[in-house]
Amino acid sequence: MRPLPFALALGVLVPTIAAAGEPVPAYAELLKIDVHSHIFEDVPALHALFRKINMHTINVCVPGGDGHLATMDRIAFELYGQHPELYPVTTTFDLRPRDEPGYAASTIAWLDRAFARGAVAVKIWKEVGMEIKDRNGKFILPDDPLFDPIYAHLAKRGKPLHAHLAEPIDAWRPLDPDSPHYGYYSQNPQWHLYGKPGYPSHEALIAARDHIMKKHPTLVVVGAHLGSLEHDLEGIAARFERFPNFYIDVAARTRNLARHPSEKVRALFLKYSDRIMYGLDASWIPHRRDAPPTNAQRQGHVNSLELRYRTDFDYYAGQGEMTYNGRKTEALKLPREVLEKFYHANAERVFKLGPTVTP
Ligand SMILES: [Zn+2]
Repeated sequence: MRPLPFALALGVLVPTIAAAGEPVPAYAELLKIDVHSHIFEDVPALHALFRKINMHTINVCVPGGDGHLATMDRIAFELYGQHPELYPVTTTFDLRPRDEPGYAASTIAWLDRAFARGAVAVKIWKEVGMEIKDRNGKFILPDDPLFDPIYAHLAKRGKPLHAHLAEPIDAWRPLDPDSPHYGYYSQNPQWHLYGKPGYPSHEALIAARDHIMKKHPTLVVVGAHLGSLEHDLEGIAARFERFPNFYIDVAARTRNLARHPSEKVRALFLKYSDRIMYGLDASWIPHRRDAPPTNAQRQGHVNSLELRYRTDFDYYAGQGEMTYNGRKTEALKLPREVLEKFYHANAERVFKLGPTVTP
């Protein structure tokens, strides 16, 4: 009897071998689901783009603490009603009445109404841990007992918690023009915590996120933005090993992946092919503008999305040297089987999306 190849003997999936010889799927042929988008206007050119490039999204309402929730909820469900395959909804919940009696029960009732209308998941944002405080002026961390009944309910209902908790580690480091997050932190200094005592550390926030999974082992947690561990691929792998219901999306962090050695990124994707989902973090939020957008701005947004989706695909599915976000990197050349999981099969399973029809 011939000995099994090493990886097969270990019971490890070997997609490179399984997929040898299979051609990379053509861009428009592969159904792609962007699990992390924020689209809050009916833009016909956007629906047309999604149909042309075979992209579906999950439309995420966020944040829950700034008073825009009712508006986002209304627009998100209108879009979902008109184009159910393009815009399934991830809802969120209002954090403002958190000190009122019966907060958990009323939040659960709100979420159940959203689920009854088809919401597939619930978002929690970095404002929990980094912004909102309790009556004593202390930051409320994501594993605060306040949220336990809500998490328990999500676990019972089988609805994932889509968790953007903490920030990239660069938020705690001096502002660095070489950082992929330089633009964001120079324009949003309120989230740049370097030199600001009193804020929880990155480590404390990640530990609080992990603690939610320890307390609620059946709760599915999708860590947005590589689970805020964009600097630490081993740390991501360690969480996948420790928490069987932990997943990540790559939204707005492909540029971080592209700075790691491609062989290491590729190994992570091959080993944890069931746990990583595509996302871009497309944001079209006219309800936050002073004046409505112009058609030229709408079209500009559609054009930029088209380019970003395509560049991402070239990184994950292409091969050889390429430029990503202004820097040279090596495309990942993921095997077809892994691309199918990353781009849609994992999202369909984790978010229990309805049957999708490919044009
Ligand atoms: Zn986002």
